[in-house]
Amino acid sequence: MIADGVAAHALTDISFTLREGEVLGVVGESGCGKTTLMLSLLRLLPSSGRITSGEVLFMGRDLLSLSEAEMAEVRWKNIAMIFQGAMNALNPVHTIGRQIGEAIIRHNYVQDKKLVDNRVAELLEMVGINPDRRRQYPHQYSGGMRQRAMIAMALACNPQIVIADEPTTALDVMIQAQILELLATLQEKLGLAVLFVTHDLGVVAEMCDSVLVMYGGVTAEYADVDTIFNAPQHPYTQELLRAFPDLSRPTGKLVSIPGYPPRLTALPPGCRFAPRCPHVMERCHQERPPLHTPSPTHLASCHLLET
Ligand code: SF4
Repeated sequence: MIADGVAAHALTDISFTLREGEVLGVVGESGCGKTTLMLSLLRLLPSSGRITSGEVLFMGRDLLSLSEAEMAEVRWKNIAMIFQGAMNALNPVHTIGRQIGEAIIRHNYVQDKKLVDNRVAELLEMVGINPDRRRQYPHQYSGGMRQRAMIAMALACNPQIVIADEPTTALDVMIQAQILELLATLQEKLGLAVLFVTHDLGVVAEMCDSVLVMYGGVTAEYADVDTIFNAPQHPYTQELLRAFPDLSRPTGKLVSIPGYPPRLTALPPGCRFAPRCPHVMERCHQERPPLHTPSPTHLASCHLLET
């Protein structure tokens, strides 16, 4: 990726598996590469971005080796995305119904006008919007309804995987809770596999089966949700959890992690968390830690895990 006029590696050493019907939480501070990862999976990086190596295996095919036409078939039909900020993602000059209908037609889910209209109504009903409102424009919807419409659009072609990139950003707390509940209900009802990008560890604890913790564009830790919350091995995961309120210890002190994540153009030569790590050692400043496997389903990149 080109950042500040120079080439920089936005993502390295990212590895995870998303199983059928599984919800994988992707967490980390702003700028750690979460959205870049999601756009890479769909091959929707901006023109300054390149995928130079790796594999994205989906149903036996490497998505990175598909032609653009083949990849366009996969997007929306197999893997759909709910983008951040519904107001920016929706076209203000077209009705909600037309926008959802276009997604259905473009991806050949159904073509007949009547069937498209029925499917739009069905989708709106599924997300709790009166189908009569399909003739209205985005500005006639509240923030929560716009986000519901975005979810309806993502489900338009019955995908197996939905990528939800901070789907409740910019919504007030009550509406956030409603949208999360809707997502959880639909995920279970439709058996969706979901990649859930969020800052909110409470949401992760509630909704996710496994968690990928990212830091500075690399995997800090990847494990099932119980392991991440009860036996985290990476100091960054441990610090993130200490910065999060614990309802079992309401008087416990919250801590913040001093400093900021590294800029892509000024990555430390060793461990990317070294400048902020409470356990930093001399070698952390020189050597990048490899991904260790504390158990077969657990990955963490820290020198402390060397046996
Ligand atoms: Fe901290 Fe070193 Fe582990 Fe990095 S490798 S997380 S700096 S102890």
